[in-house]
Amino acid sequence: MTHIKDNLTTVELQISQACQLAHRSIDEVCLLAVSKTKSATLIQQAYNCGQRAFGESYIQEAVEKIQQLNHLKDIVWHFIGPIQSNKTRLITDNFSWVHSVDREKIITRLNEHRSNQDTPLNVCLQVNISDEKAKSGINVNELAEFSALVDQCEHLTLRGLMAIPKKNDSIQSFNEMSKLFNELKQQYPTVDTLSMGMSGDLTDAIANNSTMVRIGTAIFGEREPATG
Ligand SMILES: *Cc1c(COP(=O)(O)O)cnc(C)c1O
Repeated sequence: MTHIKDNLTTVELQISQACQLAHRSIDEVCLLAVSKTKSATLIQQAYNCGQRAFGESYIQEAVEKIQQLNHLKDIVWHFIGPIQSNKTRLITDNFSWVHSVDREKIITRLNEHRSNQDTPLNVCLQVNISDEKAKSGINVNELAEFSALVDQCEHLTLRGLMAIPKKNDSIQSFNEMSKLFNELKQQYPTVDTLSMGMSGDLTDAIANNSTMVRIGTAIFGEREPATG
């Protein structure tokens, strides 16, 4: 038995305390409920508690759940996982947001596939802020080039940046991300989103300007190992 309602209340309280500590308004931080590996039933439970923004990482299971929950018209789906280029159409057809964009080819394909819809796809560029060899994300020195690329796309809106820092240097990385975000905002008026902070580090992320925390475990409990 998962107590989603209690968990959501606890997370919302943590967010509001973090905002108070940082002298920020609670309206500046959006809670993205990360529901990867969790059933449509559990998502529906969170929805019934008022949660509207959900994040998914595995495209196949995400699309199944999105179809099952098709009746919930005001859910906003965010794709936050690694993107394979042959899955870009599934992303543009099913999601309003994507946080994990880090390749030119993916940008081009998302823009092409989104052309059949009235609203642009909201895009955050993923930054490899801890400069880890095996991690996804663009390097800091590529940010100007990639931002310009997304900004030029008719069917994409550049909304901001996303990062998953290494555990032991997360505070410094959050701080660097905050600076990059402020610079990007000066340049592009559409930029308003800094996606960072997870169950274990949301307070530090909010202290460093995060506008969207991506919370899985603290809402839905521990995940089963992914299958397939
Ligand atoms: C799984 C995941 C999260 C949620 O992590 P928790 O520690 O369970 O809160 C956040 N962001 C991304 C990109 C993820 O893949």
